[in-house]
Amino acid sequence: MTELLSNYLGGRWQAGSGVGTALFDPVLGNELVRVDATGLDLAAGFAFAREQGGAALRALNYRQRGELLVAVAKVLQANRDAYYDISTANSGTVKADTGIDVDGAIYTLSTYAKLAAGLPEGHFLPDGEAQSLAKDGSFATRHIRVPVDGLALFINAFNFPSWGLWEKAAPALLSGVPVVVKPATATAWLTQRMVKDVVDAGVLPAGALSIVCGSSAGLMDALAPQDVLSFTGSADTAALLRSHPAVAQYSVRVNIEADSINSAVLLPDAAPGTPAFDLFVKELAREMTQKAGQKCTAIRRAFVPAASFDAVAQAVGARLAKTVVGNPRNESVRMGSLVSRAQLGSIREGIATLRGAAQVLHDGSSAALVDADPAVACCVGPTLFGLATPDAVLANAVVHEVEVFGPVATLLPYANVAQAVAQVARGQGSLVASLYGDDAPLLAHTALQLAPLHGRVHVVSPACATTHTGHGNAMPQSMHGGPGRAGGGAELGGLRALDFYHRRVAIQGAPEVLGAL
Ligand code: NAP
Repeated sequence: MTELLSNYLGGRWQAGSGVGTALFDPVLGNELVRVDATGLDLAAGFAFAREQGGAALRALNYRQRGELLVAVAKVLQANRDAYYDISTANSGTVKADTGIDVDGAIYTLSTYAKLAAGLPEGHFLPDGEAQSLAKDGSFATRHIRVPVDGLALFINAFNFPSWGLWEKAAPALLSGVPVVVKPATATAWLTQRMVKDVVDAGVLPAGALSIVCGSSAGLMDALAPQDVLSFTGSADTAALLRSHPAVAQYSVRVNIEADSINSAVLLPDAAPGTPAFDLFVKELAREMTQKAGQKCTAIRRAFVPAASFDAVAQAVGARLAKTVVGNPRNESVRMGSLVSRAQLGSIREGIATLRGAAQVLHDGSSAALVDADPAVACCVGPTLFGLATPDAVLANAVVHEVEVFGPVATLLPYANVAQAVAQVARGQGSLVASLYGDDAPLLAHTALQLAPLHGRVHVVSPACATTHTGHGNAMPQSMHGGPGRAGGGAELGGLRALDFYHRRVAIQGAPEVLGAL
């Protein structure tokens, strides 16, 4: 039997009373550890987090809580090598992809720690000036934002076990709100190890950070009206959570990051041979292969002028053909594996669905794997689909609706920019769209056209060829989240992320009272 990982709840380590669910190495197939949450007293653990953790955090001011983030980042930095090993073993990621998850988390924590320097040394955030409510000025109203008086429950997805925790925890802890994280089971080891290191280092007050690994049963029932829930995962689970009584009846605030059919658009001025064309090709190939396409922000639909379709297909196909797939322990490998057999099955199903709806432009399904047994490893090469004409894009529904959460994208030709924008909209709201060209007014105009449908519009032109942060990278300074199908959520965006963990309140009274707050 492999090690059973403990849960940290109620200020102590607690093992589940069941045999546990096994976590596997998705490349080698061996069992790594087990997780189990059977028999935990969630109500007591949540109460401890609210009462002990919440009170201790809120006894500090914003700047002091910023210091806590510095301390957490230092602990993670000191144990970074172990996280890389766990990620290789449990997520099958190559080093560069582990970096996005692990170093991305440390960078996000450090960014929020720096932002804390601009926050008050007090216990609430001011929100505008006081306004008089009486002719003689003897009575007024002042708005402030106070931290929510509950806990933040994070139910996370399997693809970012590190960043997924810390990109949420940084603004929550900075706000003064204790965190309970439930990582996705398949890759929970890294999250558990990071929480263990932070708890063992004693850098956070008791109850400020808890973890429940394994089944989600009972978590939603343990929420109280003043708690908040931040969920990342599938639209189906999101719909279940939205209808839970905690949300539907008791108004637990919810942030949802669900699936998203993100787009990239090559503008007509970026003809083959131009720098913007090359940037588009490079970005599309990178987005398809980074983290084996398991990024909520990855490009799924790539829109190109009909005249450039063949040139793009050829150039992207040439890049994909060079992608070495297999065991991330081999230095020559550029793309590791999917996280589990279940994901491999789901990606194969998705590829079969797209095969029935589009033509295959690059077929990675028969790519040879390096140091990996195809019968065991959850590896799959990249596949680029395409539709031959703009009319076929208009007539097709599948490519706009089916998210294949792996190294898969579809190339779609358009007749004019207005048509491209209308087709992007068929994704029904996405996390991100990117634009490529060298005509600043056209780029800006198109960005505004796409804005209502997206959380982020990433514009790439030769002027920022080497400095742009990448279509799929969620930077802490920029908002992450999208309308409609993407879940309607909003995370990050610098200090805007603190909104979710605060409540706005109007205090009314005499000016000397408001001034004394
Ligand atoms: P999922 O099944 O919805 O799982 C997500 C999380 O919810 C996991 O922690 C899971 O726990 C938990 N969960 C499952 N059923 C639950 C329930 N009834 N009540 C409470 N929690 C429950 O999602 P997935 O299929 O693993 O993840 C892939 C999807 O996530 C993709 O569609 C992708 O687009 C989306 N995603 C979105 C973002 C974003 O930022 N927008 C990021 C990453 C992924 P277990 O693991 O224990 O089942």
